[in-house]
Amino acid sequence: MTDEQTALFTIFGATGDLAQRKLYPSLFRLFRKGFLNDSFAVIGTARRDWSNDVYRNAVSESIQSFQPTSTELAEFISHFYYQAHDVNNSEDYSLLQTLADTLDNKYNLKSNRIFYLAMAPHFFGTITQQLKEQGITTKDGFNRLIIEKPFGSDYQTALSLNNEINAAFEEDQIFRIDHYLGKEMIQNISAIRFGNPLFTSIWNNTYIDNVQVTLAEELGVEDRGGYYDTSGALKDMIQNHTLQVVSLLAMEPPKTFTERDIRSAKIAALNDIKLYSAEEVAENFVRGQYDANPNTGQLAYRQEPNVAPESQTETYVAGKLTIENQRWQGVPFFIRSGKRLSKKETIIHIVFKSDLNPFATKEAAGLLPNNILTIYIQPTEGFSLTLNGKEIGDNFKIEPLKLAFEHSSEALDNSPEAYEKLLLDCLKGDGTNFTHWDEVAQSWRIVDVIRQTWDKQTPDFPNYISGSNGPKCADDLLAKDHAIWI
Ligand code: NAD
Repeated sequence: MTDEQTALFTIFGATGDLAQRKLYPSLFRLFRKGFLNDSFAVIGTARRDWSNDVYRNAVSESIQSFQPTSTELAEFISHFYYQAHDVNNSEDYSLLQTLADTLDNKYNLKSNRIFYLAMAPHFFGTITQQLKEQGITTKDGFNRLIIEKPFGSDYQTALSLNNEINAAFEEDQIFRIDHYLGKEMIQNISAIRFGNPLFTSIWNNTYIDNVQVTLAEELGVEDRGGYYDTSGALKDMIQNHTLQVVSLLAMEPPKTFTERDIRSAKIAALNDIKLYSAEEVAENFVRGQYDANPNTGQLAYRQEPNVAPESQTETYVAGKLTIENQRWQGVPFFIRSGKRLSKKETIIHIVFKSDLNPFATKEAAGLLPNNILTIYIQPTEGFSLTLNGKEIGDNFKIEPLKLAFEHSSEALDNSPEAYEKLLLDCLKGDGTNFTHWDEVAQSWRIVDVIRQTWDKQTPDFPNYISGSNGPKCADDLLAKDHAIWI
């Protein structure tokens, strides 16, 4: 194990859902794979008055599905310590400091510290300030801060939050999680784009007709109604995940595949996305909200728990982004994301330009079907290329044929989960798959103009049935560009 992979993890919000569902299982997988050996310790903190034993039991429960051996389990949980702590109470931090220093000595952690804020963002400023003021951040080792979305609710609130955090942590110490960036196939976008001269050479407006990014969910808001009703699909899915995917698809080739160069290329791509005027928002973006489905018994969004009965919050967004640079001039990037759609699917289509069908008779002249590169992010992971071939039979008729690659379920079972990957990246100090402040800021600028325009108008909601493909206005949007959702 290198020095880099020695650290004390302090998890704020240790009794919460994220910690139990994602963080402990991810730490366990890293432990099992040998990335965390003796030299690591975890302090869990939250308000509940738990003992180490109660905490260790909770951690054990959260990793039962991995069927750890008793030795493995005992060894793993022995590294976990609990400290009851109200983050608003400055006196509690001294207990945390004492425990941190004790564990540092005990496990020889070289003053390397990772602070994971698995808590509501309004606590971030207070926690980071206290960590610095009370000397819980160290002078000798590394100090890294992992924070969850949402990062602000618009550009101004994100800026204030960032300023608060910057008072204690520098930008290169801040690891903003967008768990999409930990997904295998999102990281594969660059491999497919830049690892195949076939695609590298045609990744531009001479050959690409349009790009489509879909992040569809089958579920409704479940028990997140209270939070979601103040957010909506635009802020919850477009500002972060969708724009991150677009930036990876649209960026210029980075000078080198290093954190610095990839980030600069992504930031440049986001900066090239046109900021729309109110009129352009109306032309290029549509929204929707799901209605009940009497056939399946699914409730309307407005009937969900903790959602206002007249809520105007969108559960669906579709839009056309315009990227103002030479590579993408004239190529629409269509994006959409929504809840309660017919299936859960994150998928990207690169639709190539078509040509006149040279085999068609004069009477039946027309265009060839488009060649399409499809990248499946989830639940299927893989990619396919739709090419044209001859239909079997007497006629010389062209038909689209799909060459498809799908990762095997065995490979998927062994592939790291997003949070596992991201925790390891942070441990190694690699921020490539985290969101830089400049990316957050520009994404908010793009989204803010849409939000502000929409907030001035009353939408005609609900406008799509639960379990359908979304509102009709999303199809009409593409029709204006003579395109259809693939
Ligand atoms: P949660 O409500 O389940 O847990 C919150 C934790 O914070 C609990 O441990 C609670 O004890 C602790 N806490 C609250 N007030 C405290 C205080 N004053 N002092 C000390 N501890 C306090 O929330 P969660 O679902 O785990 O989410 C945590 C963060 O992660 C949120 O910002 C959320 O938006 C984000 N997030 C969660 C998920 C997820 O899958 N759960 C996914 C993406 C982002």
